[in-house]
Amino acid sequence: MTAKDVFNPQALLAIYRHAANAYPEECCGFVFVDARVHCGRNIQNQLHKSSPDIYRRSAANGYTFAVADTVLLNRSLQSDNPVSVIYHSHPDVGAYFSREDEDKALFGGQPIYPVSYLVVDVRSGEVVGAKLFEWDGESFVCSRDFPALCEDH
Ligand SMILES: [Zn+2]
Repeated sequence: MTAKDVFNPQALLAIYRHAANAYPEECCGFVFVDARVHCGRNIQNQLHKSSPDIYRRSAANGYTFAVADTVLLNRSLQSDNPVSVIYHSHPDVGAYFSREDEDKALFGGQPIYPVSYLVVDVRSGEVVGAKLFEWDGESFVCSRDFPALCEDH
């Protein structure tokens, strides 16, 4: 599988649409090496509803992939078209890599998946940009900054 630009305009637009449609909740999904976007299902609200003491966050400020998404992600890593980017959105708080995001991405201080993380900045239902975060060996640092996209070209 030849690596394409996983952030080509079509892929980015698909991610942005997912983020805008999910507002005021967080969306989550991933992008494969061939630039195909998989819109995941954020089950954070169900978790929060059934066990609010354990899952204190709702989908307004948290995300958890559905089991089917996690299976797909894990299987892809053994295939010739692995997931290369995991994305989620931040409604109205800005595209930063939060403490929770870091906890979710790490196990024992090391990244769980060999992927980078895209955080989409949604304000009042409109995507205003996105930031990519990559592991530099010690922490997640912002390596790319994407602007808002115009839908009509
Ligand atoms: Zn986050």
